[in-house]
Amino acid sequence: MPLPNPAKIIFATKHRKHEIFEPLFKIHGWQCVAEEVDTDLLGTFSGEIARSGTVRETLREKIALAQKIRKQDVYFLASEGSYIPHPQLGFLSIGVESLLFFDAQENIEIYCEFVDHHPVHDEKVLQTVTEAQEFLKQIGFPQQSVILHPEKQLQPIFKGVSSFEEFESAFLQCLQIDQRVKVATDLRAMCSPRRRWALQKAAEKLVEYLQTDCPSCGFYGFGFWKSNEGLPCEDCEMPTRLVLDLIHRCLKCGFTENHKRPDGLFWAPVENCDYCNP
Ligand SMILES: [Zn+2]
Ligand SMILES: [Zn+2]
Repeated sequence: MPLPNPAKIIFATKHRKHEIFEPLFKIHGWQCVAEEVDTDLLGTFSGEIARSGTVRETLREKIALAQKIRKQDVYFLASEGSYIPHPQLGFLSIGVESLLFFDAQENIEIYCEFVDHHPVHDEKVLQTVTEAQEFLKQIGFPQQSVILHPEKQLQPIFKGVSSFEEFESAFLQCLQIDQRVKVATDLRAMCSPRRRWALQKAAEKLVEYLQTDCPSCGFYGFGFWKSNEGLPCEDCEMPTRLVLDLIHRCLKCGFTENHKRPDGLFWAPVENCDYCNP
């Protein structure tokens, strides 16, 4: 059973993220309706409210909030952005856009994510407006907005600052409280072009799931589930920790299908081998 056309997908969002999904869904005959829920209650990027639980739990909570308001609807969607240290280069961060689609009738969840290896995510403690110029240039201000607050306290906090006049006035107000001001990228989707781009990529992934029907039972949502490690070493042929193949699974009937690595890599370079290169 493919996703019905038209399907009405309720997006639990506060920061107009549905605008990114709308045109893409429309191509497939699906409607994207924003349901304004106060997702900030579940945690904010700027740190006034700490996030608790895993990303997936937060996504479920967002959907549950929308479901309370929209009891008749079947399809729900929520998204969540997070930044984690780069696995190899700890001083850099990577951005992860996570999406959860929920079919309330079938009680089925589709989870997918897009990893941005070069997110615009930075902060600096500064003393003068002149000093701030270089930082602002680096992050692509004013298209990318910023948040400011005195270094040692979160209040007053200026969010979504997107013009030089606004920036200067906020900076000077912070300076009256502290000698140094913390300036950071505002990571809310409407304030960050790079996040909107990453969200678009995540949305494209979700559409791929929604469009792919199970080869066995025909239910929509067939796609990547998990990867298997064990690509053999080019030298000794022992399994390494590199991905060997990808498993696609149907959420409805559990049918699985193995897929080869998309890059066609057949042997693992010897430096990945724990036997040859411990
Ligand atoms: Zn199936
Ligand atoms: Zn080896």
